[in-house]
Amino acid sequence: MINKPKGCVDITGDESLLWEYVNDVVSTMMRTYNYELIRTPIFEASELFHRSVGASSDIVKKETYDFQDKGNRNLTLRPEGTAGVVRSYIENKCYALPDIKKYYYNGTMYRYERPQNGRLREFTQFGVEVLGSNDPIVDAEVISLQYKILEALHIENLEVKINSLGDAESRDNYKKALVSYLEPHLNELCEDCQERFKTNPLRILDCKVDADSDILKNAPKTIDYLNKESKERFETVLKYLDLLEIDYEVNPNIVRGLDYYDHTVFEIVSLDHNETSQSVLGGGGRYNKLIKELDGPDSYGIGFACGIDRIIAILKEMDLYKDVKRQVEVYVMYVSEEEKLHALDIVQNLRLNGVVTETDNLGRGLKGEFKEADRLQAKLLIILNNEDLQKGLVNIKDNATKEEEKVDLSEIVEYIIGNL
Ligand code: AMP
Repeated sequence: MINKPKGCVDITGDESLLWEYVNDVVSTMMRTYNYELIRTPIFEASELFHRSVGASSDIVKKETYDFQDKGNRNLTLRPEGTAGVVRSYIENKCYALPDIKKYYYNGTMYRYERPQNGRLREFTQFGVEVLGSNDPIVDAEVISLQYKILEALHIENLEVKINSLGDAESRDNYKKALVSYLEPHLNELCEDCQERFKTNPLRILDCKVDADSDILKNAPKTIDYLNKESKERFETVLKYLDLLEIDYEVNPNIVRGLDYYDHTVFEIVSLDHNETSQSVLGGGGRYNKLIKELDGPDSYGIGFACGIDRIIAILKEMDLYKDVKRQVEVYVMYVSEEEKLHALDIVQNLRLNGVVTETDNLGRGLKGEFKEADRLQAKLLIILNNEDLQKGLVNIKDNATKEEEKVDLSEIVEYIIGNL
């Protein structure tokens, strides 16, 4: 027997209903906020991720699925969504448009991580990327969109943890302060952090191993190193969030794992599910340097990504799970071949009118069909028999009250819709 690869999941049955539900809410919200769906390849040139996510990042160093295709091209399964979207924006010269671009995506990502609860090797993220504006109103919109989607999914007690890394000058000043603070403590940090100290010291703050050490807890904070402009910018973002009534907490420990962030960085958690780092539902930030870094113009970008697998895990714990259940509304029953022809036609007609309808596909016979209708919890049963059909009539039974009525063939759809 061949099993699925480690860290991957099959989604079927009731769980797939939850996926449909989440996808529906996401795409509806994205459309109301006027975001355009973008689909980019699941694999890209490996270099794209080295230059965007950062060659020194954990993701690129340890977690990417890299391979060569038959033409000896070095390719990587995408570990995140931003790089592909920005690559597409540059390649298609979308920056030439006199407008900002607001994209959303929803797709699978791949990271070779140690699988555990809430951490998979193939997982799904939805996210947005807004390209072409540095206005803090966009930061507030992106953060509130993420928040409002989770709220629309009935996930409660949400809190945005927000921080600012500032512009290049502020980041540099901070980096210097961090380096001189960390230097004397270097051999108390994990091996990876000692390496990070040389390549990208900011990443030390993201370390999962040293996260709880006093050294990191007492490290200098980015917001204390913001220059005037960056500080004012951050305050404006917070003011807009206040106006939008988004719950947030300024958390100087949020630096995010990727190389490309500047200014606003954020994560979103549900305080009801806050015991572990796995409770982070999503996060994002501004990346004003990335577009140029990938050979595009000097432009601006900000985005977020949210993990659907973790959202589903939370929804499964909630009562809401039951409401999402798909219910067969009508079950059509027949025995003879002649009745079957009518059944085929009636089922098609009801389905095309938006009524969730099922019929027998296994030649169960009437008794088996009643049983199946009960199992599916069908609300109404259409019971066909030759005698009534010849008079142009069908029997419709309410499966709860057991009341039965004869209805004209031409009025079935109207009757059903009126009685559901
Ligand atoms: P990141 O791209 O690392 O900022 O992650 C954004 C969100 O994607 C996280 O908050 C998670 O909800 C989700 N996520 C990231 N990595 C994984 C993973 N390995 N398995 C499942 N979900 C993940």
